[in-house]
Amino acid sequence: PTLAQDVLAAMRDIPDFPINGVVFKDFTPLLLDHALRSRIVADTVARQRGTVDVVAGIEARGFILGSMIAHELGVGFVPVRKEGKLPSAVHSVSYALEYGTATLEIHQDAVSNGERVLVVDDVLATGGTLEATCQLVESCGATVAAIELVLEIEALGGRSRLAGHQVNTVVTV
Ligand code: IMP
Repeated sequence: PTLAQDVLAAMRDIPDFPINGVVFKDFTPLLLDHALRSRIVADTVARQRGTVDVVAGIEARGFILGSMIAHELGVGFVPVRKEGKLPSAVHSVSYALEYGTATLEIHQDAVSNGERVLVVDDVLATGGTLEATCQLVESCGATVAAIELVLEIEALGGRSRLAGHQVNTVVTV
């Protein structure tokens, strides 16, 4: 089986989470499986080795994947966090998401002018979270080199909000 097939088989659909009518794609079973987790990380690392200066992971699942990828790439890791969590001076972006609104923040000094940033998260849904994260990276004067995801939910059209960026996903549903 391909990596995409194995990832799809390992993910769970959780109906009515976090609200009624939403089917949540749960990737926590993937984290339990060292061999599968390693293949996901290796897949991204093979594509991005030598092309990025730093990895930005989005709270919270992007922290898990992003820090493993940064470790393997031998580059730094930057957390993109929900409002009020980062202790030093931040840039903030507010946006509408699938269920509600949110604000994301990055430390102003986390990435430098001209750096190439790899953005990592688990799922691309409506694209609001990744669009906001790209704005945060760019507000630091850095460039989004690529976006790496485990799963894209194509019907929600998130990719159209990320026009101009290289977007790679292990699985598209
Ligand atoms: P978007 O902003 O609508 O693209 O939603 C993406 C963000 O919400 C990411 O940070 C995902 O982790 C999270 N998210 C949205 N839908 C799901 C899902 O079905 N499973 C896991 N995470 C999701």
